[in-house]
Amino acid sequence: MSLSAQDANGTTLVDPSAAMVEGASAEQDPPNPMLVIISGPSGVGKDTIIAAMQERGHHPPYHYVVTCTTRDRRPNEIDKVSYNFMTEPQFMALRDAGDLLEANKVHDYWYGTPRASVRAALGKGQHAILKIDVQGAQVVKACVPEALLIFVVPPSIETLNRHLEHRKTETPEQLALRQKNAALELARQYDYDHVVVNEEGDVDRTAQRIEEIISVEERRDERAAVVV
Ligand code: 5GP
Repeated sequence: MSLSAQDANGTTLVDPSAAMVEGASAEQDPPNPMLVIISGPSGVGKDTIIAAMQERGHHPPYHYVVTCTTRDRRPNEIDKVSYNFMTEPQFMALRDAGDLLEANKVHDYWYGTPRASVRAALGKGQHAILKIDVQGAQVVKACVPEALLIFVVPPSIETLNRHLEHRKTETPEQLALRQKNAALELARQYDYDHVVVNEEGDVDRTAQRIEEIISVEERRDERAAVVV
């Protein structure tokens, strides 16, 4: 039985009653921890959605993996919290040692997922939440087929461009590159298990939709344990 469907906008609709029927009660064994990938074009609001999910809290808690990047830290970002900021040689050393689950160049900089952090989360029985780009998502899916892939789309391209321009964190050249890449990224949404629209001013609803998807998926009997 399918627990989700998509409406005309491509929004994944999850029927909570279906989750109850097929779901487990509080007394049942905790579900296998999952690797959940959240992707979407730059400016769609992934960080805000994740902040909303963190604020809402979960039992057991989700583990939000802090990834590595060679790009410069933005004024509002904190090292080891927003990202593990590093030089390119430091990044390459990690990659060459096999310490990154995936490593990809995104918008001209390197980004990569620390394998140990994902492993530790899963080992503690926590879902590992990864906010990575479309190329990274495909690499992870190829080596971890059980990974759950969720793609966040904006209500319109105009909204996306407006957000990118207003946040003023990029140079004009970087902004142009991110806007160009957005079209390529949006075309990859069909490779994902679920697509969620981040409606303007409704980030809490988006966070809730993602949690609903996770809670339905975690109860699937056929979901195998994740090994990274
Ligand atoms: P930003 O520079 O705006 O923080 O992130 C740019 C893009 O890199 C976003 O799509 C973000 O999801 C992605 N990203 C962040 N960390 C990783 C990672 O570890 N691996 C990959 N492949 N992409 C990442």
